[in-house]
This record gives sequence, C-alpha cells and structure tokens, in this order.
Amino acid sequence: MTFAFDEETTYFADLIIPVPIPKLFTYRVPRDMVERLKVGARVIVPFGKNRVYTAVVGRIHHQPPNTYQAKYILELLDEYPLITGYQLELFAWMAEYYLCNIGDVLNVALPSGLKITSQSKVQYNPDFDYPELLTDDEVRLLDELKKHSALSYEELGRLVGETNVPSTIKLLVGKRAVIVFDEVREKYVPKMVRKVRLKANYENREQVLALINRLEKSPKQQEVVMKYLSYVPVQNNPLLNRKGLDKTILNQDDEVSQSSLQTLIKNEVFETFEIIVPRFGDEDMQSVEVKLTDIQQKACDDVVSQFNNKDIVLLHGITGSGKTEVYINLIQNALESGSQVLYLLPEIALTTQIVVRLKKVFGDKMGIYHSKFSDNERVEVWKGIVDGQYQFVVGVRSAVFLPFDNLGLIIVDEEHETSYKQHDPAPRYHARDVAMMIAHWQKAKVLLGSATPSIESYYHAQQGRYGFVELLQRYGDAMLPDIVLVNTRLEKQQKKMKNEFSSVLLEQLQQNLERKEQSILFQNRRGYSPYLQCEDCEWTGRCPNCDVSLTYHMRDAEMRCHYCGHKDPVPKSCPACGSFKVRTIGFGTEKLEDQLQIVFPEARIQRMDLDTTRAKNAYQQIISEFEGGNVDILVGTQMISKGLDFGNVSLVGIFDSDRMIHYPEFRAIERAFQMITQVSGRAGRRADRRGKVLIQTSNPQQAVLLKILENDYRGLFEEEIVERENYNYPPFSRLIKLTVRHAEQSISQQAAQRLVAQLTEKLGEARVLGPEVPLVERIRNQYLYTVLIKLERSISPKAAKVFILDKINELLSDKGLKAVTVVADVDCL
Ligand code: ADP
Ligand code: ZN
Ligand code: ZN
Repeated sequence: MTFAFDEETTYFADLIIPVPIPKLFTYRVPRDMVERLKVGARVIVPFGKNRVYTAVVGRIHHQPPNTYQAKYILELLDEYPLITGYQLELFAWMAEYYLCNIGDVLNVALPSGLKITSQSKVQYNPDFDYPELLTDDEVRLLDELKKHSALSYEELGRLVGETNVPSTIKLLVGKRAVIVFDEVREKYVPKMVRKVRLKANYENREQVLALINRLEKSPKQQEVVMKYLSYVPVQNNPLLNRKGLDKTILNQDDEVSQSSLQTLIKNEVFETFEIIVPRFGDEDMQSVEVKLTDIQQKACDDVVSQFNNKDIVLLHGITGSGKTEVYINLIQNALESGSQVLYLLPEIALTTQIVVRLKKVFGDKMGIYHSKFSDNERVEVWKGIVDGQYQFVVGVRSAVFLPFDNLGLIIVDEEHETSYKQHDPAPRYHARDVAMMIAHWQKAKVLLGSATPSIESYYHAQQGRYGFVELLQRYGDAMLPDIVLVNTRLEKQQKKMKNEFSSVLLEQLQQNLERKEQSILFQNRRGYSPYLQCEDCEWTGRCPNCDVSLTYHMRDAEMRCHYCGHKDPVPKSCPACGSFKVRTIGFGTEKLEDQLQIVFPEARIQRMDLDTTRAKNAYQQIISEFEGGNVDILVGTQMISKGLDFGNVSLVGIFDSDRMIHYPEFRAIERAFQMITQVSGRAGRRADRRGKVLIQTSNPQQAVLLKILENDYRGLFEEEIVERENYNYPPFSRLIKLTVRHAEQSISQQAAQRLVAQLTEKLGEARVLGPEVPLVERIRNQYLYTVLIKLERSISPKAAKVFILDKINELLSDKGLKAVTVVADVDCL
C-alpha cells in the first residue's frame, strides 16, 4: 500500500474532540512529537473559529484526510496516556449504543480538570506606531496593557473600570494596536504542602543531642529544633524524620522563630521539601475484621461458585441482611488476586455510612468518586488509578468512565435504582448496563445487589442468563418491620385526620417520642405544596415557560418551577380576581415538617430533601445529627430511602402511597414497591425491637400494598412479568424514546409526525408508537412530542439504530424544520 504523503515520516492522528460532532478528526503530528505521542494521550488542538480544545488520541497512522487539510496538533499534555484502550473502546461503543456523538461521551467522561480552558488574553503590540489614531478610551486601555505582559478581558475590565472593554479591544485589534491570543492551561492544580525536616546527618539520637548542645548559644534556634522534635521525635525513631512537619507549624506567626528557621535552613540543619497531598481527609483508620454469619458466608460462597460459569450474578438480599459485608468479602478476594474493583452506588447512598465503613476496611487503597467532590479531587482519583495508587474505587454512575484496565469485579449496589440512568445531557447511559459491557471486555465479574431488584434483572436471573443468590434473613436476628396499612379515607369520614396525619400515625409518633426512639416520615415531594389556588376563581400559579404548576415554598416565600427553576413571589391576593382566599393544595415535605412542629412543639424535627441539602456537606450533617440522636423525627423525600442504617429508628411513616402507585407509567407498580420497601427497610434494624411501618392509603385493598405487607417480591415479579409480556415491554423488548422539541407547537408536532411516518415505513406500525404529548407538554418554552420505539429482543438493535439515526438526521437537515431538536433516549426508564 502507498500513501499520498511521505509515508514513513509523516504521521496523522485521529482525535476525539469533546464537542457534539459525530466523527473523529484527523490532525497532523508535528515531527518532534512523533516519538512521544501515544494513543490515549491528551493533546491540544485548534478547532473551529479561534478555539482550542483538549482532545484524546484515538489512532495514529499515515493516512491524510481526503476532504480537508489537516491542522497540526499544538501540544502534547501526557507523556503517559491518561485514557486506556478499554476506555476508547467504551467511548466508541457508548456513542453507537446510546445514539450520540463520541465527543459527547468524552465530554461527560473526563472531569473538567482534565480538560483545559482556553481563555483569551490581550497583549500590547510592540510594533504598533500610529498613536494618533486612538480615542481616549483606547489610550487608557493601551496604557494599562503596556504595564503588563498580558491581561485577560476580565482583569483589564477591573483595571480600567469599564464595561465595554471587549468592544474597545475589537477596535484596537482592527488598528493593530493589540494582539489577542488564547492562553491554554490545565485546570488541575495538585494540592502541595511545604514541609521541613532535619538533614540526613541529624537523624540519629546522638546527632540530635549533639545538635541541641551546639545550639546552646542560640536559644531561639534551639527552641525551633525542640519544637520540631516535640512533633517528630526523631531521637526515638529516625525514620519519622522522612515525613517531616508542615512548615507552617514551625513558624506560626512568630517573626523570631521564622528567621531562626531560615537560619537553620541556611546552615543546613533543616531542609524544606514539597509533597502532593491527597485532598481526601486522611482519617485515622483502624483495620476492621469482618466475620460473616453462616448465612452470609454461604451467600458469599454461592456467588463465588456461580461466577465459575456466569459473568453476572444477582444477589437478592433483603434490607438489613448485610449485603455490604458480603461485598466487602468479595472485594477483598478480588484485590488479593491483584485485580481492580469498582463498587457502584447511587448518588445519595455514597455520601453516607457505607463509605465510612468501607474506608475502615480498605483505607488508602480505596478511591472515592462522587459528583459533590471538587474537580481536583476527581482528577486525583483518575490519576491515582493510572498510577496504581487506587486498586479499588467506590463511586457513582460516572465512575464507569474511570481508566481501569484490569478489573476483576464490579459491584452494582441497589441495581434497581433509576439514578444509574443519566437523563441529561447525552450520553443517556445506564451505569449498570455500561458496567456489564466494561466487565465483558476486561473479563471481570459483575455482582448486582438489591433488596428489590429491577424486574429486568430478576427476569434474566430466572432465565439463567445471570446467576442468582438469595439472602433472605436480616443480620443478627433482627426482624423485618411490622407493616400496617392506614385507611385515610375511613379516617377522613370519621374526621380523625389532622391535616395530612392519620390518628394512628400521630399516636405512634407520640409513643416513639416518649420512648426516645427515632422516626422517619417519607413523602416523595418537596416544597410546601404543589399548588396555590384561588378559592373564588380557581386561579393557580403556573410556570410561564413550562406546562406545570409552580410549587409553593413557604420558607423562601416563593413559587418555583421544578422543571426550569423559574421563581415568582407569592402573591398577596389572587392575581386574577383579587380575592384573598388563596389556599395551598396538596403537600410536600416542607408542609409536613411545619404541621408536625405544631402538633409536637417539643420534638426535634429535621427535613432532608433537595432544598435542604444543596450545600456540599449538608447531607452528611443531617445524617450525623440524626445518627447522634439529636433529631427525633426525620422528614424526607426518596433521599432517606437509600442505604441508611440507623439502629434507633423504630417507626417509619409513608404518605401519599396512592400517588406513587397510580403514576401513569408502566413501571409505576414496580417503583412503588421498591420505594416503599426500601423506606420501610430503615425501620427496626436492631434485634431487640421490631420496627413498625405505617403506610397511609385511601385504598388498602390494592394488590401491590398487600405484596409489600408480606414482603412478597416474588409475587410482585410474577404479576408484573405477565403484564410486561402482554404489552411487550422490557425485558421482552428494548425501548428507544425520541423526544422532538420546538418552540412552536405546530412545528414540533409536524416534525414528530413525519418522523413516525418514516420510521414506520421500515420498522412497521407495531414497533413505532406516537407521536404522543408527554405528561408535561412544554418545558423551557419548548413543545414536546415523544415517539416510542419498541424493538423485540430477538432482533439486533444495531441495524435498527443506524436506521433511526439516519431518519433523525434527515429530519434535522430539512430547512423547513429549522431549530427542531430530537433527543434520543435508548433504554429509557
Ligand atoms: P443491607 O445493605 O443488606 O441493607 P447492611 O449491610 O447495611 O445491610 O447491614 C445491616 C447492619 O447489620 C449493618 O449495621 C451492618 O454493620 C450489620 N451487619 C451485617 N452483617 C454483619 C456481620 N457479619 N458482622 C457485624 N455486623 C454486621
Ligand atoms: Zn381568584
Ligand atoms: Zn418552568
């Protein structure tokens, strides 16, 4: 084969650029970079108009692109690739599977600390010599620039105190008085600490004592040395000196000691050095031995033996059965055999007790990857895996993007959790499914764990596609809680309800307060109430951008849209008719908290929902307060249902169960079962007292509630799976949801109808449903139509997806449908 270019010496590289374009771009490799450039390394390249990006090398070859002139790579960022071959494979697979661009995948995969920023800077042009052309504003700006080597727009604005800096600069560029360039820099800044230690010739006891004697005449210097020794007793153990002491500790705002320390450094008694410190707290750790119970041990052995001929095993373990202990055991085994381990948890569960527990067992070997962490922290985990510092990472959904190359085990805890699916932006991936793919490539095993498995996973286990292990007893003889249904319709008739509270629930809460035991109340809706309504004219507060009512938040005296964030002040009277009779309808966690405080003025009540946990550590704080016994009643949304383990909780109250059950969605029953069972599982985790759960409902006869009472997951599964088969829903089919959006309803509708017509041509009417108006038909001023595609499991989705993508692109390229967007959601939930 021959190349058009100088074949042996000219190199090109195909790069993944983190922008929404479907293809890799080919760049030319500068000669001096050829030797060092490797697949998986990050480089900086120009792309589009005056922009630079961090891209990743996907392939190196000799083939010039034939439709465009290849630009040069500007800079190489990594001598050692930060992205593994497996990751490149993953990015490509995800783009294809989830119908998105590979650039979208890269954009979400890389923590922004690994992407450089390009910030424009301005510099005075030394060759400029036509000052007579300048206005006063321009002169002032130039004077400032002459004083500095280069300034950003922002710095310049601050210095000259003007708002129209950019337009002035534009004029100056035109007059060739200034030069604008992009400064490229890495955002990741390792955290460094400056330390001091004794020089190596003062490390043993005799040398230290001699030194102290010698400094008899300089008491200040002697004092500094003594202070160092009080923190780092080198005289007792010379090895301690290696780690040294933070410099700041030795010269605490005392000028004399500072200059003494300087002298000691100059005289080569002390030396300074810098180390990179991990941003994660270096808490004291004591190693913890886990002793599995016989039942747990059996489950563990079962999992191991099933891994012999199954790549995936589902562990169905009820709440409080000690799944975590089983995981720990399996993780230890995998680590001992030298492979890496990834432990996935839903977002919320990860901030809590489980991590503390794992940290005690695995210490420094364990990295944590969480979205509430700063970018620098995430980069440290990323690099720590590449460097081999972290063999084991516990993380949220996005941890599937980490650069593992030798995984032996992936655990997906609470595998039924919907938060494993990313909704926005693309790639709209499901971390559980992606984990299976990664495991497949790296020959790792996958353990799915849940007390309430997804119908899909349970079905695959029943079919023998996955292994299956059960753990159906709580640890330490603790019993599952006693679950009681409370008929709110009846209580309403008998006038026994107090606002949202049944008399039964209030009674139990009262008793629990007296016994000094804790209670949890669950309502899966935040805010005070979902509606404000005028009693006279029926006006309700609605979002101007979306087709939803505004939720009333009392504490902040606001009405808020939970879709777009729009806020309105609460009107003093009805904006439509002026009536003062504006009332709240329905209730959220804020209202419950409020009413509860009136009934139990002495009780210590805390609320946990999105609104009270926005700050970085707020969630952790509420949990610790509750754990420490400083809270009697915790009111919360589904946040409180995940992975929490409190010994003193003996009562759980559940509101609005009917709304969960009747949600218009084919997974509603499954979700209601999962949600209620998980929340109930927070009660009675101690052997000495059985917990109680009260579920408020207007219809206690509903089948799913009876299944919850009996903890009958199997029964639920058997009913649900029949429905799924009858209506050809997952696991019997795969779903792809296309959402068509446009600011004008008619255009949106027209586009959706056309899409359906074209898809139907080849896929047939049975496989293409819609277009349908979704529950919320307008969000952020865009009208939505959805098209649902159902593909049988027996046909390959690959070809269908190519066809679907073609049709979408065809639609989008139609000039008559300008500004229409189509969002594809593969395996939508
Ligand atoms: P699950 O995740 O299945 O709901 P957990 O793993 O949280 O259950 O375990 C429930 C409680 O029982 C925890 O407090 C845990 O520490 C304790 N536990 C479970 N197994 C053991 C064991 N083998 N030894 C000591 N404590 C255990
Ligand atoms: Zn009114
Ligand atoms: Zn809105």
